[in-house]
Amino acid sequence: MALIVQKYGGTSVADAKRIKNVARRVAARHKAGDKLVVVVSAMGDTTDELIELASQVSDHPEARELDVLLSTGEMVTKTLVAMALHSLDVDAVSLTGAQAGLQTDTAHGRARILAVEPARIERELERGRVVIVAGFQGISEELEVTTLGRGASDITPVALAAALKAKQCEIYTDVDGIYSADPRIVPDARRLQDISYEEMLELSSLGANVLHPRAAELGMVYDIPVIVASSFNDEPGTLIHGGVMMEQFNKVRGIASDAHVAKVTLRGVPDRPGIAAAIFEPLAEHHISVDTIVQNTSVERLTDLTFTIASSDLKQATKIVEAAAKQIGATEVLAEDNVGKVSIVGTGIQSAPGYAARMFRTLSDAGINMEMISTSEIRITCIMKATDVEKAVKALHKAFEMEKAEASELS
Ligand code: ASP
Ligand code: MG
Repeated sequence: MALIVQKYGGTSVADAKRIKNVARRVAARHKAGDKLVVVVSAMGDTTDELIELASQVSDHPEARELDVLLSTGEMVTKTLVAMALHSLDVDAVSLTGAQAGLQTDTAHGRARILAVEPARIERELERGRVVIVAGFQGISEELEVTTLGRGASDITPVALAAALKAKQCEIYTDVDGIYSADPRIVPDARRLQDISYEEMLELSSLGANVLHPRAAELGMVYDIPVIVASSFNDEPGTLIHGGVMMEQFNKVRGIASDAHVAKVTLRGVPDRPGIAAAIFEPLAEHHISVDTIVQNTSVERLTDLTFTIASSDLKQATKIVEAAAKQIGATEVLAEDNVGKVSIVGTGIQSAPGYAARMFRTLSDAGINMEMISTSEIRITCIMKATDVEKAVKALHKAFEMEKAEASELS
């Protein structure tokens, strides 16, 4: 009898029929003998609708009230799933994030989990109940309701799995798992049988919207095996884990792409200590995350500095950077939207010769101009025009023969 934490995303619980489908899946697993904690998201587009409602009554809804409002989305789902289980004769109880012991800081709208106090869940499990938990929400030390950030209900099940020492965490969504590239761009993209935490973290941070990057990070830190699979079929999904994958070392496993990137360039930046901090500190204070950063070598003690951010942050970032530029005496700020990024990801690819060269050759053969390049241990990223992203992904998927099954999948 294993303790399993499951999570069902918004599309998997979008209406009553789907909620009944989830209840049937949970009931079958419960009858097979597993102890289950089930985390749920808000139904369908509920969270967007609640935000829209708030904006209709106020230009600047207070963060505290907005969090309480948004937390109701997940509350509706958790109660309905519990009721659906009751009608299948399964003993189930639903809990809010606070009741489930999810303690967070006070950063409304983007709260971080500080601790999980799982005593209540453990008591319910001991009584033989299935425990349904509202995802995406917690409670602060001041007993204020908090939410973890858009799309962040994935974090709840991994945090609970860590606190409860569960055997594994299963994230059910509307796709079959993690793919070698976005299947909407590359029709013969393959579902990966497994992937390492590090690779998943890179892929999710780079725009593969299947699993929240903070969930991949938590899984890695607490070594929780995470399975991503569909709630609409019984396909095995993708296992994210920390095992050493000898066969897959030094291979490109996934291509991440994002066509909604913006680029900010500062021209004529005086080359002296503290300049980068003067630019990036205020961005960090406004929670704007900066991606690729390139600083040129200086000519006559002046340099150029370019970095990328999400398109949605461009307006705010430009304002902040213009103020910083004035302060440090940079001559010009250029903001450019419609930029894209494409990355190849795989453990060990940076240390293996030839991957970068092959990537650059492939892109140049496709007539794509690379504007910036950045690398990590397990990733090579190229910044390009947003309109080149699809072409780049297709060409790279082919060049690295990613449509072919991996050795371990042939048996
Ligand atoms: N309901 C929340 C959102 O839409 C959390 C989630 O679904 O991940 O952002
Ligand atoms: Mg979601």
